[in-house]
Amino acid sequence: MNDDNRYGDITEFIDGVLTTIGKETLTGDELALFNDEVVANFRDYVNPGFLEYRKSVADDGNYAAVEWRSSSPNTLMDSRGNTYIDCLGGFGIYNVGHRNPAVLKAVRQQMDKQPLHSQELLDPLRALLAKVLAQLTPGGLQYSFFTNSGTESVEAALKLAKGYQASRGKTTVISTTGAFHGKSLGSLSATAKSVFRKPFMPLVPGFRHVAYGDIDAMRKIVADCATVGDDVAAIILEPVQGEGGVIVPPADYLPAIRQLCDDEGIVMILDEVQTGFGRTGRMFACEHYGVTPDILCLAKSMGGGVVPAGAVVATEELFSTLFENPFLHTSTFGGNPLACAAALATIKELIDNDLPGAAAEKGKVMLDRMIALKDEFPDLILEARGQGLLMAFEFQENDIGYAFSKGMFDRGVLVAGTLINAKTVRIEPPLTITLDQCHQVMDTARAVLQEVRNSL
Ligand SMILES: *Cc1c(COP(=O)(O)O)cnc(C)c1O
Repeated sequence: MNDDNRYGDITEFIDGVLTTIGKETLTGDELALFNDEVVANFRDYVNPGFLEYRKSVADDGNYAAVEWRSSSPNTLMDSRGNTYIDCLGGFGIYNVGHRNPAVLKAVRQQMDKQPLHSQELLDPLRALLAKVLAQLTPGGLQYSFFTNSGTESVEAALKLAKGYQASRGKTTVISTTGAFHGKSLGSLSATAKSVFRKPFMPLVPGFRHVAYGDIDAMRKIVADCATVGDDVAAIILEPVQGEGGVIVPPADYLPAIRQLCDDEGIVMILDEVQTGFGRTGRMFACEHYGVTPDILCLAKSMGGGVVPAGAVVATEELFSTLFENPFLHTSTFGGNPLACAAALATIKELIDNDLPGAAAEKGKVMLDRMIALKDEFPDLILEARGQGLLMAFEFQENDIGYAFSKGMFDRGVLVAGTLINAKTVRIEPPLTITLDQCHQVMDTARAVLQEVRNSL
């Protein structure tokens, strides 16, 4: 017998949620209920750790700010109506701004036609996007495999490199200290941070880490590996380390890595999940150095901040590893029509509005002011650095970084302080940020730094 009421509470609850989704704004009472419900559900069903973390970011009672909507290309609004300039950019997903109309339009039109693919017939947008990526990416990068996230792109890249090198007897993968490549078991093996890795050991065997930015150390470990028979299959690195604290390597580093890979028959994997699609002032960060990897990892901003989308783009030489059996590596949702529609519209927006150029220009404006702030507050700030609109303050101490992030949050600017290391705070706005907003953020930063100094 079917118990009609068995799911009654659930459907009633969902009805309420769907009604809320359909509303433009909430009344004061609805707002209070909404906030309480979300906070309680985070505590009881998501992870209470998030609430503890939020408290540490903003201890003024506003810690449980619940986001409600994107309010303009570069701002978002919480459910109490507070607006924030987004200088965190979802850690780099909003390159074309929040709710970019061209991306929304493409996704809506594809949604009305066919949101997901049959998995059997040839799905058109995958092929059309792959062609665009081949044209957009530098050098001989040609074939694309599509994913739903950065970590999946890195997994695909690692498998591609391993598959390619298997017959050559090369199995070691060299990554770098400070690297972030994702948190699934394969990509986590390449990620460098002990706190993320330690609880899940042993990870995938054959990974080594060497100091980032140090070409001599890289040459030495490659030679050492060959000496003991652990020949190097691939080197994976970020052109600028994002999560590692916005570390820009010496200008000759990437070219030297390219040369080393060519000399030793090593696959060069560049992880541009965060730096790709204009973030650093060029369409891809490797273009600053005239370097093309054998495999390029993309994700984050690829779906225009609307649909999750990622890809690995590889040379024919590398990708041909999968020609004989294209089912060696697959993904049900990777390259789905909504993601491809979003990516195509995103790329056109980047080009039409020269957003890489905007990132270079606005990045310079902001970094110049950040360096001026460093000179004004040397007691608080150790360094200001960046490339394009991927920038960071490194503070003298963790506590100062926390205080800065909190102060910015309370004054309506989201910055990317992290729980693990608040010493470095990232500033990573949409590439659509206006000049006015750049200055507003820096004026706010100055006021907050003044406040932090006075509180010491
Ligand atoms: C964010 C990031 C990843 C992981 O991407 P997810 O979509 O979170 O899996 C990988 N590499 C780099 C460089 C990143 O910044």
